[in-house]
Amino acid sequence: MNSETKICQNCKKDFTIEPDDFSFYEKMKVPVPTWCPDCRMVRRLIWRNERNLFRRKDALTGEDSFSGFPAEANLQTYENSYWYGDKWNSLDYGMDYDFSKPFFKQFYDLLSRVPLMAKSSASFMINSDYCNEAGRLRNAYLCFDSDFVENSAYLVKATNMNDSFDSHEVIEGELCYEDVMVYKSYRTFYSLDCESCVDVWFSKGLRGCTNCFGCVNLRGKSYYFFNEQLPKEEYEKRLSELNLGSYESISKIRIKVLEFWQKFPVKYYHGIRNISFTGDRISDCKNVRDSFSIQEGENMRYIEISVLKAANSYDCVQLFMGVENAYECTTVGEGAYNLRYCFNSWGGSRDLEYCGYCIGVVDCFGCVGLKKKQYCVFNKQYTKEEYFDLVEKIKKHMNDMPYVDHIGRSYVYGEFFPSEFSPLAYNESLAQDYVPINREQAKEKGFVWREPNAREFQTTIKGVDLPDLINDVPESITKEIIACETCKRAYRIVPIELQFYKRIGLPLPHKCHNCRFLDRYEFINKPKLYHRSCMKEGCENEFETSYSPDSSEIVYCEKCYQQEVY
Ligand SMILES: [Zn+2]
Ligand SMILES: [Zn+2]
Ligand SMILES: [Zn+2]
Repeated sequence: MNSETKICQNCKKDFTIEPDDFSFYEKMKVPVPTWCPDCRMVRRLIWRNERNLFRRKDALTGEDSFSGFPAEANLQTYENSYWYGDKWNSLDYGMDYDFSKPFFKQFYDLLSRVPLMAKSSASFMINSDYCNEAGRLRNAYLCFDSDFVENSAYLVKATNMNDSFDSHEVIEGELCYEDVMVYKSYRTFYSLDCESCVDVWFSKGLRGCTNCFGCVNLRGKSYYFFNEQLPKEEYEKRLSELNLGSYESISKIRIKVLEFWQKFPVKYYHGIRNISFTGDRISDCKNVRDSFSIQEGENMRYIEISVLKAANSYDCVQLFMGVENAYECTTVGEGAYNLRYCFNSWGGSRDLEYCGYCIGVVDCFGCVGLKKKQYCVFNKQYTKEEYFDLVEKIKKHMNDMPYVDHIGRSYVYGEFFPSEFSPLAYNESLAQDYVPINREQAKEKGFVWREPNAREFQTTIKGVDLPDLINDVPESITKEIIACETCKRAYRIVPIELQFYKRIGLPLPHKCHNCRFLDRYEFINKPKLYHRSCMKEGCENEFETSYSPDSSEIVYCEKCYQQEVY
């Protein structure tokens, strides 16, 4: 089969469907997409919120609780422990399929009535209430999109992390702080793109290094200080002179380090051990294309975020813990198999289409909030024969009577859910992190936008007035409400955090956790690829890179980059 060029139903730009893509669609028995890959990605991202916690009324108790859904969202929520329990039955909300209305409108009605879990998390959470899009956390605070995390706070995209704070995209680490893309490391601080490091500070692009400070692109080195080898005693002397427990010293070092890093070339993508791939932040992958933040993936395309193994999937946001044959899904995992057009479903769910919040569910279509069920449509139980017969009729009906939105986009069988049916506004969802836009642009593109509710807390101290030295910080600091130096919003220092700063000897942050996140997020390239050439003089290699042509980095091909590491 040849490539085919189509016009995106949404942005009206051309996009190409390649022979491999056709084979995937055939194997999954789905129609070819009518939206381009970028528009499809945004449409899925609008269904996922990681970092925003809202206050909303619990549908059972009527009391205020924290949720990943805003109070304005047209839906019901139960506290997670009650939701996962057997005191309520989501089949009570079942309804007959109505062949006089479009499928998507009926699904939206069901979604607004069946209670959802207040926070999108797996059931194994201990003392980790203020976390969202997470599973298997213990004593975690404000951790998002994370699994297997203990005694940690302010982590985003963390897997298997202990006693770590304020980091982004970190895997298998302990006692880490202010890291971005740091893997299998211990006591690694303020570092970027490092693997298998111990006692490393302010470093970038290091592999297998110990006791390094302010270094770039080193392999298996110890006692290096700004890429200069020092005797052990001299290295330790320099570190003690830096006064790392002072906020002022750390701030000055940060500026100096960023300038130093800029002098060295970067590899055109982040990641290692890949065979045949395009994208960024990709490791241990084979035949993975146009994908971002992927660990251990095989035969996939157009995926954003996948951890702990996934294969044979296209067009998904967030796959976790063993997923196969998924297409057009958001947040599916734990052995999910053959899921199409689903969101927030896990626990061994298989063979689902157009389902949300289904746990351990098999052979269901258009269902919401089911646990361990089979052969249901719109939360109504059928026999096996009735089920397959009805599903075929519904798919035909979806094509005969499509849902048409207010700007004329048509949704037949094969489209993911319309963004206007998401409980989240554009700026409350992951779309705003990945493809940031402003209020006017959102309006122009027909997206919902909601100004955040100003939750005013009386602050008791300003960030700038915090003690400079960690040794001068009293235990009572955990009682203060601090005003962020940048956005002026309130934040706290929680007890496990204070213990950590004292243990390592790190100063208190002057910014709130959100501003700290945004600072780290500057290091993450947006999910877009540019065709560029290697910047090493004389090299003619070309590649797909997420470093945009106007980024300040010196971008090298793999071969030239390897000549720069030592
Ligand atoms: Zn498009
Ligand atoms: Zn702030
Ligand atoms: Zn080159």
